[in-house]
Amino acid sequence: MSSQPTPDQPAYIQDAYQRELSTRIILVNDKTVVLENTIFYPTGGGQPGDSGWLTSSNGEKYEIINTRRCRETNQIIHELAKEAPELKADDQVSLVIDWDRRYSHMRFHTCMHLLCSLIPAGVTGGALTDQKARLDFSLGEIPLPDEQGLTDQLNELIRKDMPVTVEVLDENILDEQPELVRTMSVQPPRGTGQLRMIRVQDTDFQPCGGTHVARTSEIGHVRISKVENKGKNNKRIQIVFE
Ligand SMILES: [Zn+2]
Repeated sequence: MSSQPTPDQPAYIQDAYQRELSTRIILVNDKTVVLENTIFYPTGGGQPGDSGWLTSSNGEKYEIINTRRCRETNQIIHELAKEAPELKADDQVSLVIDWDRRYSHMRFHTCMHLLCSLIPAGVTGGALTDQKARLDFSLGEIPLPDEQGLTDQLNELIRKDMPVTVEVLDENILDEQPELVRTMSVQPPRGTGQLRMIRVQDTDFQPCGGTHVARTSEIGHVRISKVENKGKNNKRIQIVFE
């Protein structure tokens, strides 16, 4: 059984391409703000939190320098560049995301799914910025891949212009198919009953809470810039845009 994401999820989960949103303040505390809804992705899964701008109803503009989830409350925290004593709960505000930065994250993130599909090994780590991305694999006896060969394979997948879609499954599927999870030490969060799966047509299918482009051609041309041996269970592959 699969379905579309449910409407109570934050806007960034429902539509990764939404760049602006009007919403309401729930809580302000020093330099942090919690909002009723948000287009800002909170740091997680190797993808940085979003940055951008918040504008109050009287036109005051505040820079949002980072977004993260509060460990205790699970609320999404927007970190402001400066204190904002003028802001208060219930105020209407509008949000604008730093789209160039976020779109780079989406392109790299989707490219990491393609890289996953090319390396038949568990993932031991990963991180991205708007400049580069890396994935670490437990290759075991598999030889280190050749940079040029892997670059060619990745660009071939990108050029295929495959759709990237979201499916929501019952989280209990992980009991029957634990192999769906490619990360060796990190398991997707459970407890909501639902599992968000990302499908790159005919190529990759795994749980993921990040933001992705809609079609692989949007990633553009990439290059494997480094393949490093960081230890027995840690072969690091770095990707940059060309
Ligand atoms: Zn993903």
